[in-house]
Amino acid sequence: MSDRSTAVVIVAAGRGLRAANGEDAPKQYRRLAGRPVLERTIAAFLADPAIGRVVVAIHPDHRALYDAAVAPFADEARLLPSVLGGASRQASVRAGLEALAAAAAPARVLIHDAARPFVSRDVIERAVAALDEAEGALAAVRVVDTLKRADADGRIVETVPRDGVWAAQTPQGFRFAAIRAAHARAAAEGRDDFTDDAAVAEWAGLTVRVVEGDPANLKLTTNDDFLAAEARMTLDRFAALPDVRVGQGYDVHAFAPGDHVTLCGVKIPHAARLDGHSDADVALHALTDAILGALGDGDIGAHFPPSDSRWRGADSALFLRDALARLAARGGMLAHVDVTIVAEAPKIGPHREAMRRRLAEICEVAIDRVGVKATTNEKLGFVGRREGIAVLAAATIRLPPSD
Ligand code: MG
Repeated sequence: MSDRSTAVVIVAAGRGLRAANGEDAPKQYRRLAGRPVLERTIAAFLADPAIGRVVVAIHPDHRALYDAAVAPFADEARLLPSVLGGASRQASVRAGLEALAAAAAPARVLIHDAARPFVSRDVIERAVAALDEAEGALAAVRVVDTLKRADADGRIVETVPRDGVWAAQTPQGFRFAAIRAAHARAAAEGRDDFTDDAAVAEWAGLTVRVVEGDPANLKLTTNDDFLAAEARMTLDRFAALPDVRVGQGYDVHAFAPGDHVTLCGVKIPHAARLDGHSDADVALHALTDAILGALGDGDIGAHFPPSDSRWRGADSALFLRDALARLAARGGMLAHVDVTIVAEAPKIGPHREAMRRRLAEICEVAIDRVGVKATTNEKLGFVGRREGIAVLAAATIRLPPSD
């Protein structure tokens, strides 16, 4: 089934919990290995060419967070403008369904939680395929633990038979007209207490079947969920990448008349700018060289000659991304970066966390794998005379066994 008449509603309107790790964002916008959870979730669906359209229901307070999360999809026509969610999950789903119907009703719709970024194409396609036979289909996993019901005092009341018991996930897929009508009827009858869309469908008398979900298709809820997911995204892959290499980089740029410097991708007001043919982000240049050094693959000047006018004023993130693409092409992964900025001014401390966040974002690693340090040069030498800024960087990479 690849006629693109399958649309997706992603429910992202919850206020979510505020995590205790210092990142003050609702969970669907928290960064997971450098990228917002919602961006990963949207990307998972857009990666499937069978998906014709995606619409996201968001909370009105999250407009700026949403715009930032979907910036990478600026050229993706299949991502429709977001819709504002309602007070309940059901109201948010309804808003998404009505937005789809207003354009052109699809034949099928998948409804998915924003906080499940690990949904696989297999699970998506199983849910879609099941709609040939049933009006609804939900991804679910068999319950393997023994189930107990306990009273308020924690005393076991009974052992619940687990035969035929499944734990519901999303996506939950439906024939579009049927689920739209079911949601409209539930709203008309004042029912907004259903915890998932399959429950709405069951209540409306639709046939809903389970399809095999995926234990990895977790709903990220607690801080521990995020930490475990980030660990899994990296440590599991590291196991297959035993060739550990460390690279170093060093760069210097001189000050010139101006009003800000760019360091680690962060603009900092200053009485001077850094001179250079790109944006002169001396920190990203040193880090790019550290990665190229670990790869044994030349240096930034060899790949991006200063004589080439294309790089004039360029965002230096593009040099770093090029080095990361070379690492990815070798089947490798970045394990850690560490940047030391040597400058008398500006002060780095107030910008350190913004720099770490930006590096984690560009490098797509967890923020605890990013170090940014600063020191003065004790007024000695060219740095001490405030003639420029020097940066030292280190990067640890992991590669597959060499053959
Ligand atoms: Mg440079």
